[in-house]
Amino acid sequence: MKIILQNLTKIFPSKNKKSNDVVVAVNDLNIEIPDGTLVGLLGPSGCGKSTTLYMICGLQKPTEGKVFFGDKDVTFLEPEHRGVGLVFQNYALYPHLTVKQNILFPLQNLKGDQKLSKEEALKRAREAADLVQIGDLMDRKPSELSGGQQQRVAIARALVKAPRVLLLDEPLSNLDARLRLQTREEIKRIQRETGVTTVFVTHDQEEAMSISDIIVVMKEGVVQQVGEPQKVYDDPDNLFVAKFLGTPPINVFDGSVSGGSLYIGSEKVLDDVNVPDRPVVVGLRPEGFVPDENGRFSGKLKSVEVMGRDSSIVFTSEFSQKPSARAIVDSEAGTPLDAEGNVHFNLKRTKVHIFDAENGNRIRF
Ligand code: ADP
Ligand code: MG
Repeated sequence: MKIILQNLTKIFPSKNKKSNDVVVAVNDLNIEIPDGTLVGLLGPSGCGKSTTLYMICGLQKPTEGKVFFGDKDVTFLEPEHRGVGLVFQNYALYPHLTVKQNILFPLQNLKGDQKLSKEEALKRAREAADLVQIGDLMDRKPSELSGGQQQRVAIARALVKAPRVLLLDEPLSNLDARLRLQTREEIKRIQRETGVTTVFVTHDQEEAMSISDIIVVMKEGVVQQVGEPQKVYDDPDNLFVAKFLGTPPINVFDGSVSGGSLYIGSEKVLDDVNVPDRPVVVGLRPEGFVPDENGRFSGKLKSVEVMGRDSSIVFTSEFSQKPSARAIVDSEAGTPLDAEGNVHFNLKRTKVHIFDAENGNRIRF
C-alpha cells in the first residue's frame, strides 16, 4: 500500500496552561512512501517522529494536511478501519494472557464477513508466530519471555490481521545491544517476506541506515532529507544531516574558500573549488583522510587506536569545532609525523563537504 503524507502538520497546545505558546510537532511534512518499502523515520528525540506515525495510523488527527493510503484519503478514518499494525517500544502485551491469546486478541473483535472461525484464527496466529519464530512459546505468559521474545510476540500480534501497513515506534529501544542487532535483521526479513509497507521510527541512525530502503531525516518537525541511506550519507543536504549520520561522526572545521581553493586555517586543502570567496564550515568524513607526509592538511596527533584492519588517528586542530577530530585509516598506512608531532593527510575529495556557516546548507562545488 502506497502512503502519501501531504502538507502534514500537527500543532499541540502548550503543556503550560498559562502560556499561549504552541508546539509545532510536525511542520508541513510531504513524503510519498512507495508500496512494499521499509521507510526509516529518523531524528533526535522530540523531532516529531511518533506524532507522524500516529497520524499515519489515526491515533492523532493532523491540524492540517492529509494522509492517503493508495488513492484513498484516510485522514479522518478511525485507526481500526485503516488496516494498520502497530508495534511500540514497550511491547504492550497483556500480562495475564498467554502468547497465543495475545496474538489471537486482534482477531477476536472482527465483525461481519471479516469474522473468522476458531480454527482459521488459530491457523493465522500460528502463521504469525512462525514468521517471527516464536511458534514454540505459544503457551507462555509474557513474564516468562525475554525482551526480544516479547517484542516478537508484539510483532506477530501486529501482523496477524495481515495489515496493509506496519508501523513500528522505536521497537528495539528496550533490547540489549546484541538482541537489538538480531531483532533488526529479523524485522527486515519479515518485511521482505510479507512485502508489507512499513514505517520504522528510530533515533538511532545506524539502525535506520541498516534496515531502511529509504530514510527520512527530521529535525524539529521539519523533514531535512529523504533518500536511500547511502545516498543521504554520501550527499547530505545540510550540516545537520551530515552530523546526524555516521559513526564515528563527521569532523567539522571552520574554513574558507579563497581564489577557488578550500582552506582550513592557512592550509590549502583542496583545489578547484568552484565557489566565490567566503567563510564556510568544512565537514570531513573520518574515512576521507589519506596519511601522507607531504599531505596538505595537518593536526596535532593525540593518539592512534588500532582496531584490527582499521586504525583511528585522533588529532586536534585549532579549527576543529570539537575538542578532537578522528581519521579512520588502513592500519598498514602508518602515521606520518613531522618534528612538531603533527600528522599530515591528503583529503579524498568526495568525502569533503562544505556548508554555509550561517544556515548550514550544503554548498556543492
Ligand atoms: P519523537 O517521537 O521524535 O521523540 P514526538 O512526536 O513524540 O517526538 O514529539 C514531538 C514534539 O511534540 C515534542 O516537542 C513533544 O513534546 C510534543 N508533543 C508530543 N505529543 C504531545 C502532546 N500530546 N501534547 C503536547 N505536546 C506533545
Ligand atoms: Mg517518539
